[in-house]
Amino acid sequence: MSDNCIRNIVVVGGGSAGWMAAAALAKAFGNTRSIRLIESEQIGTVGVGEATVPHLKLFNQTLEIDEIEFVKNTQGTFKLGIQFVDWLRKGVAYVHGFGEIGHDNGVLPFYQYWLKLYKSGQVGDIGPFSLNTAAAPLGKFMASPSDVPPNSPLANIAYAYHFDAGRYAKYLRRYAQARGVKHTEGKIVQTLLRPQDGFVEAVVLESGEKITGELFIDCSGFRGLLIEQALHTGYEDWTQWLPCDRAVTVACETAGPPTPYTRATARDAGWQWRIPLQHRTGNGYVYSSPHISDDEAAATLLANLDARALGEPRVLRFTTGKRKKFWNRNVVALGLASGFMEPLESTSIYLVQSGIGKLISLFPQRDFDPELINRYNAQSHFEFDRIRDFLILHYNATERDDTPFWNYCRTMSIPEELADTIRLFRNSARFFRNAEEMFALTSWVQVMIGQGIVPQTYHPLVDQMPDAQLRQFVDGVGKVIATCVSAMPAHEQFSARHVAAPAA
Ligand SMILES: Cc1cc2nc3c(=O)[nH]c(=O)nc-3n(C[C@H](O)[C@H](O)[C@H](O)COP(=O)(O)OP(=O)(O)OC[C@H]3O[C@@H](n4cnc5c(N)ncnc54)[C@H](O)[C@@H]3O)c2cc1C
Repeated sequence: MSDNCIRNIVVVGGGSAGWMAAAALAKAFGNTRSIRLIESEQIGTVGVGEATVPHLKLFNQTLEIDEIEFVKNTQGTFKLGIQFVDWLRKGVAYVHGFGEIGHDNGVLPFYQYWLKLYKSGQVGDIGPFSLNTAAAPLGKFMASPSDVPPNSPLANIAYAYHFDAGRYAKYLRRYAQARGVKHTEGKIVQTLLRPQDGFVEAVVLESGEKITGELFIDCSGFRGLLIEQALHTGYEDWTQWLPCDRAVTVACETAGPPTPYTRATARDAGWQWRIPLQHRTGNGYVYSSPHISDDEAAATLLANLDARALGEPRVLRFTTGKRKKFWNRNVVALGLASGFMEPLESTSIYLVQSGIGKLISLFPQRDFDPELINRYNAQSHFEFDRIRDFLILHYNATERDDTPFWNYCRTMSIPEELADTIRLFRNSARFFRNAEEMFALTSWVQVMIGQGIVPQTYHPLVDQMPDAQLRQFVDGVGKVIATCVSAMPAHEQFSARHVAAPAA
């Protein structure tokens, strides 16, 4: 290794972000670097963050984590998408499913063909044309079997997980420690900066121990111990577009088989999540504090549980937004320390994963080349901003006018790029994915349609298909999806056979 090589990495924080970072760095660098993770039991972790997106499978694969062992160890369940209830208007639900919509014929996305028939009243909603959105409400799930033809919808079933956040961090901790990550329990009370350039030199624990490092990963949660408290990086506040600023959470006993999807139900001043695990169900009401009191929010949450609450509701406060820099000097912030967007589309853990990936790609030397830092920050800003816009879409494209909160969301001004995206889709049914943004066409299209944005017209190329052939094509796709769904086992049955966890 050259003299310029970073040899000493310190991860501050042992929540999901800290242990994900430590595990991934240990996997990437083997024992060529010293990696130390510091956490404080006294402070604890945020203790939420239990619904994910399919990208996590890639993270696990990179770490060579066995899927079955992982799901069992975290009391996990499988997730085909998110069901949005009452978002467009009360009484209406749709599913944002992972995976494809319909069948790609190589000319246009399937939704363009569906749209022509839908607009003339010849077919119903788009949901039954996607394996995930059709299977999820029926409680069906399976992983793709190896013996189906590659063009079958069953060949590439996209799914994510729900898991117990505490068990996830413990699982990754065992993984990381087995690969040489050193663990220090203790509360950091001071951060020492190098006088010449303001880089972080060391952190000091309550015990007086001083821990030095060359690269610091700040995973200290909302407080941003290094990135904000020590380096004063600054924060961009997005409350004007994503007005929810608190969540009250409580777990409850399971009642009935676990659904293979997360449910997000719109409430008077925000929305409620429901995340089924094997041993319990996670619940939370994300709300806007100017529109509802903590007590009312807790009462609403408790009145809308499947079964008996396990413990007392807990209120968490946050400000939606992002750090002005995600990487500042020799500090890279990940997880809640880097910014926060509410868990409506389960994006936070994904952003940790994506941040780790970028950091490994742009891993610096001891001179901390500003080009690497600038690129990291530019990519991260882009990623955060596009996710922000996707979340705003859910709130803004609504017909709800029954509470002050929804009236605010429906009429608020939105970022220009989002307004352009909606206009393009509404006027001409087109969507363009920007570079490496997280959500693909299928996600945007499902949510735009689900939120009532039905395009005025469809792509002109659709008219080149004779009507009878068009009908046959769309009906045929619907039939294939229905046949596949009927062949899928119940989620509960699949889980019992493959991933049943030991009793909690
Ligand atoms: C209400 C809510 C719901 C969410 N739901 C989802 C979801 O469904 N899906 C999803 O992807 N994400 C979700 N998230 C986000 C997710 O919880 C976080 O991204 C994830 O848990 C990572 O948190 P963290 O590790 O950054 O912070 P934390 O879990 O808060 O960990 C911070 C760590 O820093 C340590 N620490 C802090 N200060 C010190 C100190 N002075 N000395 C030593 N150690 C210190 C703490 O001990 C702790 O170990 C949700 C977040 C909230 C608030």
